[in-house]
Amino acid sequence: MKNALPAGALALSAANPALAGTAAPAPPGFSVMGAHEITVRCDEELERRRTLLQRMERHAAPGQVLEEFNALSLRTGGFDDPLGVLQNAAPEKETRAAALACLEKLVPFSTELFQSTKVYARVLALKATQPEDQAYRRLLLENFEDAGASLAPDQRGQVKTIQDELNTLGLRFRKNVNDVDTSIALTPAQVEGLPEDWRKARTRDAQGNYLVSLDYPSYGPFMEMAVDAKAREQVWTAFQNRAAPQNLELLDRALVLRSQLAQVYGFADYASFSLRRKMAGSPAAVSDFLLSVKSAVDEVEARELEDLRQEKASLLGVKAEGVQLDRWDIAFLQHRIQRNRFNVDPEQLRAQFPTDASVRFVMRIAEKLYGIAFVAQEVPVWDPAVRYYEVHDALPGGKAGALIGGLYLDLFPREGKFSHAAAFGVRNGSVLTGQHPIKALICNFNSKGLTPAELSTLVHEFGHALHGVLSRARYADQSGTAVRWDFVEVPSLMFEEWSRREQPLRVFAEVCPECTPLSTQQIEQLDAARRFGAGMRYARQWLFASFDLALHTGAPKSALATWEQMEGASRLGHVPGTMMPASFTHIMGGYEAGYYGYMWSEVLALDMLSAFHGNLLDPAVGKRYRREILEPGGSRPPQELVEQFLGRKPSPEAFFAEITGRR
Ligand SMILES: [Zn+2]
Repeated sequence: MKNALPAGALALSAANPALAGTAAPAPPGFSVMGAHEITVRCDEELERRRTLLQRMERHAAPGQVLEEFNALSLRTGGFDDPLGVLQNAAPEKETRAAALACLEKLVPFSTELFQSTKVYARVLALKATQPEDQAYRRLLLENFEDAGASLAPDQRGQVKTIQDELNTLGLRFRKNVNDVDTSIALTPAQVEGLPEDWRKARTRDAQGNYLVSLDYPSYGPFMEMAVDAKAREQVWTAFQNRAAPQNLELLDRALVLRSQLAQVYGFADYASFSLRRKMAGSPAAVSDFLLSVKSAVDEVEARELEDLRQEKASLLGVKAEGVQLDRWDIAFLQHRIQRNRFNVDPEQLRAQFPTDASVRFVMRIAEKLYGIAFVAQEVPVWDPAVRYYEVHDALPGGKAGALIGGLYLDLFPREGKFSHAAAFGVRNGSVLTGQHPIKALICNFNSKGLTPAELSTLVHEFGHALHGVLSRARYADQSGTAVRWDFVEVPSLMFEEWSRREQPLRVFAEVCPECTPLSTQQIEQLDAARRFGAGMRYARQWLFASFDLALHTGAPKSALATWEQMEGASRLGHVPGTMMPASFTHIMGGYEAGYYGYMWSEVLALDMLSAFHGNLLDPAVGKRYRREILEPGGSRPPQELVEQFLGRKPSPEAFFAEITGRR
């Protein structure tokens, strides 16, 4: 996942290049901001931004308009991005609430800025000659157009009202999901099948019941291992209904607003409006892509579901005919098949992937591949569990050389914290000003050890973090992950392979000599077990992407009714009364009309792996990838980057081989 917060960076500690490689720039001071300070600084911040905008409007000639934008972006991002982290991860409820209130207050500024016809005219008149300047000018012009600067004044006002409300709706939607604190009391008999570690980690009530919460360390293993189907139904249903029904109203309102927005610009619907700014280009291109995915996975999904049905029948001791699969059976049965057929028990494997060692593992991989070094530093953090690392260029012998950026790790669940795993921006880098980028990983891992799937999640989010941290873009708005939305998952999806293949997995022994390494046979079995679910996994991804596209095509419709109909047409059907769209944060935080981007990105990710020719630890290819894909960030069109790296046009062959198990 990628965070959907405004791009930007911290101006307060723009690094002095003379210090690079010797000492860290002071890390962003946001960690010490409490609720009161946020509220006070928020008003000052808005004032200062408006003053900067007025200053930009005073000039008529283009002059240094790109540099001025960069300075403004460093200023706004430097305040907003840390605030986004606090809103999602601050331990105190008051701080999270103050951060949200402040972000809501600052929302209108972005539209004010990009509706300024005076500054728009300056950017229009600018003659850029360097490719990075041309790309930044183009990006700014797109932002001006999307904010309505090229429209008539009354339409401009309409766009501003719509954008402001959309931004607020997005923030509220995510808050409602973060704030879910449902826990389900289950008797010891109802948690039969769960391992001792999982039981110990749960809170128990006065009657001795286990309180099962909906965060991943609690929910994931429960759905895979709880023997009691009724209990699984209860927990699964609660999970489907997170933030429901209140978020459905926010989502439906957003759909109406997005449709209105598209119409102001003369587009038929939001999908057409939004996709013109993405690699795919049009709803038709996405539709074609999804159709090819559907036809590729259909049969694989059917085969896998039939296997699950047989498993359920044998478990019940009955004939398979007439046995019906329920949605809350899937993870459980899949887990059983993984254990019985492929001899894989993800829970058992936690002992072989201690969480700390797993973090050192992914850092070690990145060090080898990209020629960098991570150096732990004591800095102020928003919670004692958070750790900070400087990222340096590695000198021969592995010693730390020049400072490149920084990375915060906030890995374990806390009450009120963002409930998935994501890479958040803390500040963007800008080569123009010498500011280093900083990212934060906010995740919810088991503190003792990871399953292979969780190791992949860690490596995936690290892929996003490195895309940000290794950025060498000239302008902050082009920094690292600030790329086209359907390209943003490419580095993270590609990096996942390093968590699955034998050669990189052997590196684990370097960071944890005492850990029992996976045998070659175990790695093969794990891979087979993962492939076993591919049909169901991609069929589900197809459904999410098609649902998202349907919501944003044609006239606005009810999200829930559309979901009921579309999920109802799937093989497992819809369970009446469940309301998944209420917690579908993606389409309220940047992936709207863009969910297909995960699979679209995977096409490119798997294709680019071919450049390694099977040697995933080849530092020469790693460094070329760093230079040609990661460092440019959004300063060049993604198509161009990929073609340069591959030396040819991309091909979907590797992706289709992966999803149909033909690899
Ligand atoms: Zn991601």
